[in-house]
Amino acid sequence: MKILVINCGSSSLKYQLLDMDSEALLAKGLCERIGIDGHLKHQPQNGKPVFDQDVALPTHTEAIAAVLDKLTSAEYGVVANMAEIGAVGHRVVHGGEKFASSVVIDDAVMAAIQECVPLAPLHNPANITGIEACKAVMGDVPQVAVFDTAFHQSMPGKAFLYAIPYEYYTDLHVRRYGFHGTSHRYVSARAAEMMGKPMEELKLISCHMGNGSSICAIDGGKSVDTTMGLTPIAGVPMGTRCGDIDVSIPDFLCENTGKDIKTITNELNKKSGVLGVSGVSSDFRDLTKAAGEGNDRAALALEMFQYAVAKTVGAYAAAMNGVDGIIFTAGVGENDSAARAGICRYLGYLGVEICPECNKKRGEDTFISTPASKVKVMVIPTNEELVIARDTKALVEAH
Ligand code: AMP
Repeated sequence: MKILVINCGSSSLKYQLLDMDSEALLAKGLCERIGIDGHLKHQPQNGKPVFDQDVALPTHTEAIAAVLDKLTSAEYGVVANMAEIGAVGHRVVHGGEKFASSVVIDDAVMAAIQECVPLAPLHNPANITGIEACKAVMGDVPQVAVFDTAFHQSMPGKAFLYAIPYEYYTDLHVRRYGFHGTSHRYVSARAAEMMGKPMEELKLISCHMGNGSSICAIDGGKSVDTTMGLTPIAGVPMGTRCGDIDVSIPDFLCENTGKDIKTITNELNKKSGVLGVSGVSSDFRDLTKAAGEGNDRAALALEMFQYAVAKTVGAYAAAMNGVDGIIFTAGVGENDSAARAGICRYLGYLGVEICPECNKKRGEDTFISTPASKVKVMVIPTNEELVIARDTKALVEAH
């Protein structure tokens, strides 16, 4: 079965077409500036040329139509016609407490995703638009929703509740949800394979470190705690998000700058993190370069990030009463050996011993700990699209 995986943003649409008999990637691409003007980059994996041009994309419906046109075209295509695409899997950011696993989309599921819009006002509406656009263009082809939050629904109350009046949880659903669940699920399953042990016997800590970062404690294959909260601003400092801060700070800043809460919240989301501290960039490559050239604030931002991740790993080792494996994934985790080494230098007391030579590797499944290291440390490139396609195939075949 061939499965189209869609990840819809408010003005973008990322896609991959996978042949799920072999799990081979057939094509991938990105529609950008939807609703503004429009651009499509389509990359067939069968030797046909890349299409990289402006295309009018007034709405997501035209974007899906343009993607299908390229996937089936003689010049850029990878399938003969649309009928070859057996199902569509969608990344959906917020499933609230309604979804602890992926589901085939029907009217009731659409209504439930809609109900979660207040919890993810930027993301869920875009995901809904993507699903509706696929329905408009592809008719009755089965569609599946895979939620970023679902993996974390196994967290116990002691981990997901905030110590605020309980009615805010019961009435307004204010709690920790956690994100990057599809990534944490994929890398933890892969880590168990690499370690040659059943998932049920392992205590793992997954560090998804990219533009957005979250850490997850996984005990016996289940998420038991994670750093992101009601929204993805919580946890460790990120590219532009502040991570955990004293909750009095926004009020203090409003009082002392005259700015309103929306402006401050926007600054905490978009102008903070390593960008805010360094004043240089949100990109770890730029920060490493600047720090190497003597920029102290860039060096401090990198140090703060490593310190926050290491502190969380320590906390999660305590939460699980042990840790067998630590995983690094996403843009920074997969590529930045200095960040990995910087984090692991705090973790000697846990029995972490890094092999400097192994730690030079980038972007491949590998152990970076020494054979003697009590805790195994792994780099595992994440593959959220593959998880979405696998879930979609399993659900559609069982339907
Ligand atoms: P992601 O959100 O997973 O795509 O990760 C994006 C981030 O990964 C970028 O902002 C960079 O900071 C970081 N990154 C990507 N490649 C490298 C690299 N070779 N070295 C260090 N950081 C990298």
